[in-house]
Amino acid sequence: MPFDRQARLETLHLMKPRCRVCARALRTTMDNFVDRLCMDHDKSSTTTEAVLGRICIGIQDALEDRLRLTMWSRWEPYPSHLSSEQHWWWKRMMIFSDMCRISFDYLWHLVIPHIIDSPVVPVARVREIEFCTAQYYGYWHCAYVITLQDGSFYVFDPTGVQFGPQWPLLAPLDVYEFRMHRPWQFRVFQVGHYYETRERDDSHEALIKSRFKSWDLVRFKLGILPRVEEEE
Ligand SMILES: [Zn+2]
Repeated sequence: MPFDRQARLETLHLMKPRCRVCARALRTTMDNFVDRLCMDHDKSSTTTEAVLGRICIGIQDALEDRLRLTMWSRWEPYPSHLSSEQHWWWKRMMIFSDMCRISFDYLWHLVIPHIIDSPVVPVARVREIEFCTAQYYGYWHCAYVITLQDGSFYVFDPTGVQFGPQWPLLAPLDVYEFRMHRPWQFRVFQVGHYYETRERDDSHEALIKSRFKSWDLVRFKLGILPRVEEEE
């Protein structure tokens, strides 16, 4: 069943304020409604998951800025009847829709220094994964699986919000995996594999290069980036 604009709108009408890391509905005064973070993932939390969640937010925000430069038309037209909270989520659902594969092109530059080589999170390895979604049959979706040094697994899904606010940005693999339609094909790659090896036509190549020219914006957004090589 195609997950179209109308289906996305219907998802929004069911929504409550949610944590943008784990997608849990915010309920108590301990939750941070302003930044859309539950108490477990708020800035005051120092757990590994919370710290990793903040890194993932920075990377997702950088991706959003990047897409906004070239995909701005996706932000219009706004449905006029949405609340400001719904509006915030609607923009993200639209800007990230169908962008999961392209996000691999953008994000390997950021995933390597900020997650794989993170000085603050004990990461063992990260893989790009591609799978058929369980909830939206026919949609192949891409994300990252992060293995921590203690052997735990997390899924970092930078574009999952395209399916609605109920999709987490970061979740333990056992929490996330019901979204994967297991009997179908499931692919795993090293980070950067997709960017390095997939076939692309000239127009797509030119588009990617044009996007990479503004990595200064990404550096600024993250505020913690070491120097990143420009693509020319
Ligand atoms: Zn949370």
